[in-house]
Amino acid sequence: MSAPQSFFEFTLPELRDHLQSLGKEAFRSQQLFRWVYQMRVDDFEQMTNLSKAFRQELPQLLDLSLPRVLTEAVSSDGTRKFLFDVGDGQSVESVLIPSKDRLTLCVSSEVGCNMACKFCYTAKQKLKRRLSAGEIVGQFLAVADRLPPEQRITNIVFMGMGEPLDNPDAVFKSIEILHSPWGVGFSKRKVTVSTSGIVPLIPRVTQAGVRLAVSLNGVNDEVRSRIMPINKRWPIAELLQACRQHADESGDRVTLEYVLLKDVTDSIEDARALHRLTRSLPCKINIIPFNEHPNSGFLRPSEARIARFQEELMRLGAHVLRRKTMGRDIYAACGQLTTAPIQTPIAL
Ligand code: SF4
Repeated sequence: MSAPQSFFEFTLPELRDHLQSLGKEAFRSQQLFRWVYQMRVDDFEQMTNLSKAFRQELPQLLDLSLPRVLTEAVSSDGTRKFLFDVGDGQSVESVLIPSKDRLTLCVSSEVGCNMACKFCYTAKQKLKRRLSAGEIVGQFLAVADRLPPEQRITNIVFMGMGEPLDNPDAVFKSIEILHSPWGVGFSKRKVTVSTSGIVPLIPRVTQAGVRLAVSLNGVNDEVRSRIMPINKRWPIAELLQACRQHADESGDRVTLEYVLLKDVTDSIEDARALHRLTRSLPCKINIIPFNEHPNSGFLRPSEARIARFQEELMRLGAHVLRRKTMGRDIYAACGQLTTAPIQTPIAL
């Protein structure tokens, strides 16, 4: 007999077909989804509306185990970083970020990443493998299960390890499972997919009905191609055109992420050029002061330069926010995720 398949890889229609192919009644799939997602029961024996014989058979058919948490680090600011074992000796990280009225889970979509963004720590760990939909859903459930009853995850961002649009089938399937009423029932408006700029797949974000974030990080093709090689394939004009189309079709503003690298992307002229590029696009700009990591070759600008950059954009009328740096002391901040060993302690 073959090994049981992970329950979390199935949508409801897929499980229905799977059970039917095994000669089981189709409606059992609904019962199972209710037990697993709505009631969070992870033991078939406790699923009391299933027959005893079926309950005993289920462990050979379906596996209810989630990715195992190997370590959990808690930052002084309350950010929690989870290291998950995803099998074959591979691991990924998820980060839970508290703020005043939100509890945001940042999930990973790949082990490592091939996009080679120069400022990103994950990029140092080349792509090992893409995660499955069930492994992405599993990160959410494993973290949600650890929360006290009065807390719940309010937002999900695909901004962890990996480029989500390099693994689109698994990412959009996981969103379907997380969103569907038969699954987790999570609002799509609270889900954001972030891309480094895989332009042809941006329409899939629009079709999925989730929010779009784009790592822009450069105001001309020369600089952007230097720090984000993907720009050579899809330059800024094409990327912003795809963003415009998303905004038009979804009626939603795009979030543009802009990392401030000292003397690379942080001048007043850069702020003005950023405004010129984006003023006709319904968007908000998140500026992210670079979070330093070992051997990155980049520096974080001074507080005065960061403030000047933000003030210039505000003066020009841009909708701009400074992303609060969370979890920097545990290497959970933006661009710092990796499962490779950290050699050098970070200067805080
Ligand atoms: S910033 Fe994102 S897309 Fe770029 S290398 Fe890092 S994980 Fe990959």
